[in-house]
Amino acid sequence: MNKIAAGFAGKNIKCLSDFDVKHLTSFKVGGKVSGLIMVNDVAELMFAAAFLRKNKKQFAIVGKWTNMLVNDKGVKKYFISLKGDFEKARVKEGGGFYAGAGITVYNLLRFAVGNRLGGIEYMAGIPGTLGGALYMNAGAKKKAIGDVVDFVYVLNKKNEVRKIDAKKCHFGYRQSVFIGKTDIILGAELSLKEVNVVESLAQIQQNLKERAEKQPLNFPNAGSIFRNGEKYTAGILIEKAGLKGLKVGGAKVSEKHANFIVNEGNATYLDIKTLIGKVKKEIKKKNKITLIEEIIYVE
Ligand SMILES: Cc1cc2nc3c(=O)[nH]c(=O)nc-3n(C[C@H](O)[C@H](O)[C@H](O)COP(=O)(O)OP(=O)(O)OC[C@H]3O[C@@H](n4cnc5c(N)ncnc54)[C@H](O)[C@@H]3O)c2cc1C
Repeated sequence: MNKIAAGFAGKNIKCLSDFDVKHLTSFKVGGKVSGLIMVNDVAELMFAAAFLRKNKKQFAIVGKWTNMLVNDKGVKKYFISLKGDFEKARVKEGGGFYAGAGITVYNLLRFAVGNRLGGIEYMAGIPGTLGGALYMNAGAKKKAIGDVVDFVYVLNKKNEVRKIDAKKCHFGYRQSVFIGKTDIILGAELSLKEVNVVESLAQIQQNLKERAEKQPLNFPNAGSIFRNGEKYTAGILIEKAGLKGLKVGGAKVSEKHANFIVNEGNATYLDIKTLIGKVKKEIKKKNKITLIEEIIYVE
């Protein structure tokens, strides 16, 4: 047992040292990280974060690994996964709705609809956690999770809990104040509205159907690789450039949706990164546009 795992012994905190995360990532690409730590509540998270900082270990929070390309040569970093309390949502007394950062978007929708609440049906099919969605303001159909946020609760670098008003989160297109910062998102108060359950479920089903029709969901992927620009849609540029089907090793630009790269079975980190580089180079040459990655490199 290494020093970090030993530091959590006797607590409810689980630490898997030198853990291979390949099977956890939606790309099915990755290698060993220093450790995967699972915490169940704010007190455990505070302890784990303070302990890692005291021991000068780099760490990040992870949701469902659906927006990441993880280096398969290994990553010298600990990842904290928010379980237990963080996976719960509740309708607050007197109204209001709170959900923990570890809840999946799928379970958030289920819980909301179960309580006749909705307004976030457009999030259906986004396969991550609420924390991951808030981090980069995930969304679809020109809407995003930030549209319904009242407050976000975070644990800051000093291990203090802070409540941040939505206005100060600076939510924009795949943009928020949390990107590249050390704040750990604990959960959020969302303003959901009362809905007709049948209509809400029908909308969710329709959104899932559209995704299944348009996206290559039968192969491992990480959703859209590139952000759209104000004047362009990345997928259309890539398709028009004739890059659908372009391959490097086991990685391929999807024939079904040009902004998706699929892992055909044995793609490596380098295959995908090289393919992304080739697409960027080609679009720069043809359209004089520098595509910007939506996915996050973990290296
Ligand atoms: C098939 C498919 C379809 C997709 N469709 C969409 C879509 O329509 N729209 C869209 O926006 N995205 C889409 N995505 C991308 C991805 O699902 C979203 O970005 C999602 O919100 C990421 O959530 P996650 O929990 O997997 O985050 P992860 O990939 O685990 O993490 C992403 C980033 O968020 C940070 N993070 C996660 N949780 C926290 C936290 N609690 N506190 C602080 N930082 C945190 C991580 O450190 C990391 O930097 C899709 C992906 C796939 C595979």
